[in-house]
Amino acid sequence: MVTIEEARRLVVESRIALPAVRLPVAQAIGAVLAEDAVAAEDVPPFANTAVDGYAVKSSDTEGATADSPVLLSVIGEIAAGASSTATLRSMQAIRIMTGAPMPSGADAVVMVEDTQFEGDKSTLDGSQSVAVKKSVRSGDAVRGTGDDVRRGTTVFERGTQVTPAVAGVLASINVAEPLVHRRPRVAVLSTGDELVDDGSPLEPGQIRESNRTMLMGLVDAAGLVAVDYGIVRDDESALEQTLRLAAAECDAIVTSGGVSMGDYDVVKSVLSRVARMTWMQIAIKPAKPFAFGVLDRRNGGEIPVFGLPGNPVSSLVSFELLARPALRRMAGLSPVAADRPRVVAVADAPLRRGRDGKVHFQRVVTHWTADGRLHAIPVSAQGSHQLAATALANGLAIVPDGEGIEVGGNVDVLLLLS
Ligand code: AMP
Ligand code: MG
Repeated sequence: MVTIEEARRLVVESRIALPAVRLPVAQAIGAVLAEDAVAAEDVPPFANTAVDGYAVKSSDTEGATADSPVLLSVIGEIAAGASSTATLRSMQAIRIMTGAPMPSGADAVVMVEDTQFEGDKSTLDGSQSVAVKKSVRSGDAVRGTGDDVRRGTTVFERGTQVTPAVAGVLASINVAEPLVHRRPRVAVLSTGDELVDDGSPLEPGQIRESNRTMLMGLVDAAGLVAVDYGIVRDDESALEQTLRLAAAECDAIVTSGGVSMGDYDVVKSVLSRVARMTWMQIAIKPAKPFAFGVLDRRNGGEIPVFGLPGNPVSSLVSFELLARPALRRMAGLSPVAADRPRVVAVADAPLRRGRDGKVHFQRVVTHWTADGRLHAIPVSAQGSHQLAATALANGLAIVPDGEGIEVGGNVDVLLLLS
């Protein structure tokens, strides 16, 4: 048996990089930056007003209050998108709209709510005036050049996922086509003669297929693109054909079933023949059997194959511990971002186990309580076939070899949120 750390070293760190591509920024959302995003421009590109109001010299407003306003003459107006050549002199003001550039000579803006316009707005010829009812200080309501992003700075480092807000920033600095790692397309297939998914009455020995539905959802939720390759019978040529097709069309393959000791040879013999596989027995429970390998594609390059065990809970746990972080690194995410967060929780019920030389990943429901700490309760059944009990878990408690953890004890938990 190998430890989970050894298995992760082999699987998670064997990163097969996807070529980077340039995508229009809106299409890059969900992908990961393959190069640093450096600002070639200041944002905002010019000093402008944060409010609708009057650009003024702040010194002119000293002492202004509602009861004793200061009267300034209004010499013009500037809308957003317009520019002004006027220069403000002492005791003058210019009407100005949010986002409009500051005129020269002005150093602050009084918001319209703190003013009273006097005269006819249609002709601003300097004979109109505005009563300023509040004093302002230099810089008030002014957004300085580059105070969001300064030219020449690295705004995002490679490895950053392009969220909608990140995409907005990229657009603001004119990175119209960022270089990103393509989102890996992940082929998902199940193997086994006993599996059916067509809704027909079960024949003796048959069960309904569940892993593929779950794994495709996990792949998508991890920010990757799941592609369905169906149920493949325990038949050598059918399996080989499906694997070759998936290899030609996708960037990674996730299979379920057929990797444990007692398995009928089909998955093992085909995968061993078409890919360079490592067959593992990992010292964990559930999800002891696992296979990882690399398959050469006919059309060049190679793609990773993750062979997950068939028991549904084992499939889920080995996806979480091995396939998910490897696939997310392949998508370009940093090692920390690729992994689930690991936190400490208080056991609200005993996490029972016996000594067997393995690390147990017990499924738990976690919640925060008023003490500010995370608490964990194991789900009602921990069998590797009991997906129903596991389905509502939102954490994997890492219970080291030994007698388990008593109520009130601390336990490390991998949070399975989202
Ligand atoms: P295997 O890993 O192929 O030996 O399968 C182990 C157990 O998981 C057996 O009870 C299988 O019937 C079951 N199993 C395998 N694949 C699936 C699947 N896709 N959906 C539900 N159960 C499965
Ligand atoms: Mg099987």
